[in-house]
Amino acid sequence: MSTQQAAVLEDPLAQLKAAGLYRQNKTLSQRQGHQAMLDGRAVTLFCSNDYLGLSQHPEVVRALQQSADDWGVGSGAAHLISGHHGPHAELEEAFADFMGYEAALLFSTGYMANLGVISTFAGRHDVVLQDKLNHASLLDGAKLAGAKLSRYRHADMQHAATKLPAKLLASDGVFSMDGDIAPLAELAALAKQQQTPLLVDDAHGFGALGPQGRGSVAAAGLTAADVPLQLCTLGKAGGTFGAILLGSRSDIERCVNTARSYIYTTALPAAMASASLAALNVLRRADDLRQKLQANIGLFRQGSEQLGLPLLASSTAIQPLLVPGNQAVMAASQQLLEAGFLVTAIRSPTVAVGAERLRITLSVDHGEDDINRLLDALAEACK
Ligand SMILES: *Cc1c(COP(=O)(O)O)cnc(C)c1O
Repeated sequence: MSTQQAAVLEDPLAQLKAAGLYRQNKTLSQRQGHQAMLDGRAVTLFCSNDYLGLSQHPEVVRALQQSADDWGVGSGAAHLISGHHGPHAELEEAFADFMGYEAALLFSTGYMANLGVISTFAGRHDVVLQDKLNHASLLDGAKLAGAKLSRYRHADMQHAATKLPAKLLASDGVFSMDGDIAPLAELAALAKQQQTPLLVDDAHGFGALGPQGRGSVAAAGLTAADVPLQLCTLGKAGGTFGAILLGSRSDIERCVNTARSYIYTTALPAAMASASLAALNVLRRADDLRQKLQANIGLFRQGSEQLGLPLLASSTAIQPLLVPGNQAVMAASQQLLEAGFLVTAIRSPTVAVGAERLRITLSVDHGEDDINRLLDALAEACK
């Protein structure tokens, strides 16, 4: 073994680099919609989850500024101490009403919400059944609870049925790496039949899908009676920050009393809650934006098909393009960057070996020209 090889073995970062798994932040020095500056170069973002462009919407920005004038920046304490202010309560009430649930609870992030809700409803040795492709935060929630994590093959209801009943059944609404939508009606029927509470994490569906943007559950014609626990994160189509858990009044009270990721952390700023309330008011009447998003998705898929690009089957804003191999997908992402597009490479083990991909996300801020230029660059990078 050379001294260089020995050094790699001892250095975890060198190991990551050698395996093509090293991660590094990309600092944007400016961002306007989906145009940004990175290392002095103009880039178009095709990797943001700001699907409706609400993160810079003037009504949302103004709501944050005005509320900061009233409340300051920090909330000063955890919710249960003195950090829960008018805007937090107002946001929770508006969400429960909009989504058709008895009650709602605002968590600081979706990640924390999933840790909190799973450890509230499942304890040590209870079985939590999840889709194989669920988001990391749902998997981590089961781990934190000390529960037994059981997984069924992606979207395979027959396989899920063999593993029920369980203490809790959880699925992404829209899968974050594949962009496909869970078979929600079948999932809800199965959960009911097996008397297992169902949690749907609709991080990527809320705002973008369904009537008034109520998400994938509402788009499937389901209600609180079918999906007793639902999570809407606010940092994606909502354009702000935080996450709302929806449930019955008693389920929400249980989370307030039990969820450590709710209890032992500073409440998110009231001004952020005000911004989220403004975002909710924009997105509930933003059918035009949702239509534009769907049109962009259609343009992209049609163009990809004409070019013969290996797209996965997804009807949402998340459009994965297979480029097998960690080194190959990193190289493709780098080539796109040089052509002026920021597109994330998703490597294994985040996805299965051989299913490495470029994860392209579309937004209302993309013009037809942006999409056509991206398609040309993708065709070049996939040669
Ligand atoms: C992004 C995401 C989360 C985490 O939400 P944050 O508010 O960003 O912490 C949870 N679940 C899914 C499916 C996600 O895509």
